[in-house]
Amino acid sequence: MTHSIKAIRGMNDILPNESYLWVHFEQIIHQWLASYGYRNIRTPLVEQTDLFVRSIGEVTDIVEKEMYTFIDHLNNDSLTLRPEGTASCVRAAIEHNLLYAGPQRLYYAGPMFRHERPQKGRYRQFHQVGVEALGYAGPDIDAELIIMCSRLWELLGISGLRLEMSTLGDSESRTRHRARLIKYFESHHDKLDEDSLRRLHTNPLRILDSKNPQMQGIIENAPRLIDDLDEESCFHFESLQHILRGQGIVFEINLRLVRGLDYYNRTVFEWVTDKLGAQGTVCAGGRYDGLVEQIGGKSAPACGFAMGIERLLALMQGNGKEIMQPVPDIYIVHQGEQAMDYAWKCAEFLRYEGLNVILHCGGGGFKSQMKKADATGARYALIIGDDEVSAQEVTLKPLRQPTEQARVKLATVAELVDK
Ligand code: ATP
Ligand code: MG
Repeated sequence: MTHSIKAIRGMNDILPNESYLWVHFEQIIHQWLASYGYRNIRTPLVEQTDLFVRSIGEVTDIVEKEMYTFIDHLNNDSLTLRPEGTASCVRAAIEHNLLYAGPQRLYYAGPMFRHERPQKGRYRQFHQVGVEALGYAGPDIDAELIIMCSRLWELLGISGLRLEMSTLGDSESRTRHRARLIKYFESHHDKLDEDSLRRLHTNPLRILDSKNPQMQGIIENAPRLIDDLDEESCFHFESLQHILRGQGIVFEINLRLVRGLDYYNRTVFEWVTDKLGAQGTVCAGGRYDGLVEQIGGKSAPACGFAMGIERLLALMQGNGKEIMQPVPDIYIVHQGEQAMDYAWKCAEFLRYEGLNVILHCGGGGFKSQMKKADATGARYALIIGDDEVSAQEVTLKPLRQPTEQARVKLATVAELVDK
């Protein structure tokens, strides 16, 4: 016997007993986004590696060690499985001149790929829903994005999420801050770990994101971004807070919020839970006014966020409100050639009437067919034998209530089953 082939570590099969939750989630998502006027965009899973290097930033965890990058040997192109969706979305908007028609409210959903250590809430193929508002400069759109998140938590029945926000300022304030950070960390050179030493002169802001416990002391005392912020960014941040307060959105300002991607400026935010251990961030985003130009488009402001579907589903499952797996309305059992002929017709008729119908396939006696009907969880069995065919009727048997079975006309079934 040859050994069997398994799925790749950190990449999950989502089986039917779980996938119905995904379908349920996706239906809510599409309705929710439509209700705010966002339109779906679908881009390829594979892009030129350069797109992500340029947008996410060369000295970030994602680009340094998490990307699935490979050479397309047919033409020697370096390609990468997308680790996130914003870069592809912006690339597509530029390539197809979407912004010529004015600002765009867009969203995408699908798998992303990062080579991380797999653990609960962290996978190598994971799924995101991402929302991008391209061409909007003001704090009103930042507020809209946050308000719509809050609405979604309500629709999904998730509670207890904390909103943390910060502002990173404009590129000049970041340059100023960067210089002060380098000076500060240089003066504590002996206390830096290997990662931080490497980043000291390339991307010192990333040092603040270090998870190394030994680094927390000197990170705690590092110069604060707030002291380097430009006036306009402060005003933008104030206005955002004003709108959120007006809409009753509760938030915490966390000036230590550092995002894992370099393209952010001004507003950044995260929705965090205490219920998922270390993988507590379920949604993260912010403003990225420089990205469109950086990828080769005409300069345009933008703002967006992405959320992790696996983490949100874990929260939905943990909130006590069980989402039932959908069951078929009717399972049709039949025996004999004429009965089968009639059964095909009945099945199509009832589906046309809006019912979910399984037609028994594979033969067998009534008893074994009834067992299969029961195992599907169907609410009713529809029994068709020679008697039923000659009377042009069907026998409807409730499977989940003690009511007796009854001979009825096919045309009355949909009403009796009462979906
Ligand atoms: P983390 O700090 O947890 O690594 P991140 O800052 O790398 O997250 P983003 O790139 O901002 O995450 O992605 C947005 C969201 O996507 C995260 O908040 C999280 O919910 C989800 N996410 C990111 N990486 C993974 C992963 N490897 N597995 C599952 N979900 C993920
Ligand atoms: Mg990460």
